[in-house]
Amino acid sequence: MPLIPLRPLLEAAVKHGFGQGAFNVNAVAQAKAAIEVHEMFRSAAILQGADLANGFMGGRTDFMNATLEDKKAGAKNIANAVKRYGADSEIPIVLHLDHGRDFDSCAAAIEGGYTSVMIDGSSLPFKDNVELTREVVKYAHARGVSVEGELGVLAGVEDHVFSASSTYTNPLDAVEFFKKTGVDALAISYGTMHGASKGKDVKLRKEIPVAIRECMNHLGIFGALVSHGSSTVPKYIVDEINGLGGELSGTYGISIDELKAAIPCGISKINVDTDIRLAVTRNMKELFAKYPEKRTSASIGGIYELLEAKKNLFDPRVFLPPVMDTVMYGNVPDDDVAAIVDCVERGVKEVVGTLIVQFGSVGKAPLVEQVSLDEMAERYKKMEQ
Ligand SMILES: [Zn+2]
Repeated sequence: MPLIPLRPLLEAAVKHGFGQGAFNVNAVAQAKAAIEVHEMFRSAAILQGADLANGFMGGRTDFMNATLEDKKAGAKNIANAVKRYGADSEIPIVLHLDHGRDFDSCAAAIEGGYTSVMIDGSSLPFKDNVELTREVVKYAHARGVSVEGELGVLAGVEDHVFSASSTYTNPLDAVEFFKKTGVDALAISYGTMHGASKGKDVKLRKEIPVAIRECMNHLGIFGALVSHGSSTVPKYIVDEINGLGGELSGTYGISIDELKAAIPCGISKINVDTDIRLAVTRNMKELFAKYPEKRTSASIGGIYELLEAKKNLFDPRVFLPPVMDTVMYGNVPDDDVAAIVDCVERGVKEVVGTLIVQFGSVGKAPLVEQVSLDEMAERYKKMEQ
């Protein structure tokens, strides 16, 4: 199936009341594994590339400095991988830009083949956020591409998204934002947090999505709510990493029960990135522990050195630069690199499979309408009238 925009998937999630996980991909192998595990559970899929992940996939290992050209190249690499593994798939797949930082980043992703984009204007004053988001909506919808905005500030670190403290989303502002911008989805701040240190026993303010949903229903406006920073940070994986010589501390996620309780309160899309990073990192550490001869491998020995040098980190992008050809294009030159690819794929499947089941998108793929971008562009045009 060709990729679909986010909108039909959100419509199904809202109508049938299930939670849909959205998972970040930073390598070809991650895209392949994420598609396979969604297929296995007959769930539709949202794969997302963060703005800077596109830079990484464009070959910038120092992705914090990625230029627009790097991001364009990377967006193409991710889109090509998703199309390659998704083309014959029986499930609907969305390729979504996570935290697009400006209009140009969104346009670059769309040009690369993304079918949905997020424009994160949450650091701007309300009026400016509305204006920027409207501009992206106008451009994206004309091409059948869906748009997610953000209102309210989440604490934590996620690539360039950083904030020391959070401000909960005001439900009245959220409804106003939907009305003024025409976005398909809105990321709200209701207690989640980016990164792996969310604090112990986080309780979500589920009254916020309830209030927004209720008003939207009364007004007859469509709009789905998105939960960012929703990794569960599985304790067993953190413990395993530390058992293998890792030095992770102060790591807490959002409990599965809190996330599951947020779904009937109006949360439709749930973003998870950290959990995947943790599982992949553990698998790589395990590989080198089990097969010490691989530590000096000509092709992957450099990964071992990085894992050893940065024991307090768990972002595979920090460790994978020695195999960028594999990351960007999926090339597997030898058995050692194949072993690393296997670490990546199993890590994705363990985490994504668990959350597909927990969030309830198992078996929901047939409920999602297969809509082409051209058809979606027509629908958006009609909605405006
Ligand atoms: Zn986010």
